[in-house]
Amino acid sequence: MTLRSEIVALDKKRIWHPYTEMSSYIATTDPLVIVRGEGARLFDADGRSFIDGNSSWWVASLGHNHPRLVAALRRQTEALCHCSLAGITHPEAAYLAEELCAIAPPGLERVFFSDNGSTAVEVAIKLAVQFAAQTKAPKRRRFVALEGAFHGETVGVTSLGGVEVFRRPFAGILFDCVHVPPPADGPAYERAFETLDRVLGAAPDEIAAVVIEPRVQGAAGMRIYDDAYLRHVRKRCDEHGILLVFDEVFTGYGRTGPMWACQAGGVSPDILCLAKGFSGGMFPFAATLVTEQIFQGFTGDKNRTFYYGHTYCGNPLGAAVAREVLRIYREERIVEQAAAKARAIASAFARLIELPKVRAVRALGMIGAVDLDDGDAGYHAPIGWRVYEAALRRGVYLRPLGNVVYIAPPMNISDDDLQELLGKVREAIEEVVTG
Ligand code: PMP
Repeated sequence: MTLRSEIVALDKKRIWHPYTEMSSYIATTDPLVIVRGEGARLFDADGRSFIDGNSSWWVASLGHNHPRLVAALRRQTEALCHCSLAGITHPEAAYLAEELCAIAPPGLERVFFSDNGSTAVEVAIKLAVQFAAQTKAPKRRRFVALEGAFHGETVGVTSLGGVEVFRRPFAGILFDCVHVPPPADGPAYERAFETLDRVLGAAPDEIAAVVIEPRVQGAAGMRIYDDAYLRHVRKRCDEHGILLVFDEVFTGYGRTGPMWACQAGGVSPDILCLAKGFSGGMFPFAATLVTEQIFQGFTGDKNRTFYYGHTYCGNPLGAAVAREVLRIYREERIVEQAAAKARAIASAFARLIELPKVRAVRALGMIGAVDLDDGDAGYHAPIGWRVYEAALRRGVYLRPLGNVVYIAPPMNISDDDLQELLGKVREAIEEVVTG
């Protein structure tokens, strides 16, 4: 028995995979067995290499096993692997919080740590409700989010989510959230602004927060929207005293161009959620940044305490890695040097429109996406998975979102790897749409 076959047998016997229909996986999938990562590449048990087209679910922003991140993690393991942050502290968390606030969008002064993107947003919604209750606005308990929104996996953030297939099994136990359309191009553009105004205006004293993924809705299918909307939401939230939460779990750390997507709109949120690239794919780690005003809403009396805290909040290993991520961004000028790569992605994706069955193409920063014609099969569209298979045969790992095939490679992918990735994605799409 080879290592590969042993692992696959154990896997199929025991593992329940995320976002995977298990009976067909067990019956028909011949999964990749990844044993090593380096830079933009993953290596499998048979020694084959794959360019990681989606930074392994958008986390490996600095590539796999960046030597400096590995060294930072190793150094920290020698000193302290874990201690709670409940009323005590440690150097890595304290320095990281200071360093984060120094580069965060203006106005964000306090940092609450947790362990993943879902909890970063869960913290935001609990903070928003409790803040309202403690600042004489107890009726503010509802939320507004975008249609197609994705904010993670807990029941709380599933309530904010706008992808119907993910919500459906939990109908009836999700809390009240109004979904408004994002400003898609065309006639829907104006309607998005009007709908937001109408929804906020109808119950301005009952809404705790508007929660959005700025600039691009990732899981919805890399839907990019106009920055003018961010300014508009900011303005309306200010008028009505509603908190604005930006979920930059995917868009942060330069993914859309600037370090923070909201910088492109020139606006700051009241609450900012960070994860994924935050710890470079080395360690589950997240942060929720808030304004001083929100922080002050929880002080002065024990009854105003935020009774929330995951075991691994502010874990020293995660904090040490997150600090090294920030140092690498600064010293290797990650955001600046990605600009030329982003232009290469934009021009390669623009040219895909020439192919049959390509409905639309788009790119923003280190993201390129193409909508394939699927006959309206939606999230379960097989066409994306056919491209996935065709790309794998060429040594490229993608993961489609229904009929949307996209790339979101490491920010520091080498120019050679990027050219290879772009060429092979095109070949894989060509094979499927002309086959
Ligand atoms: N917010 C956004 C915008 C995301 O894209 C995701 C995950 N794809 C999450 C939150 C949830 O993050 P996690 O999977 O780390 O819980």
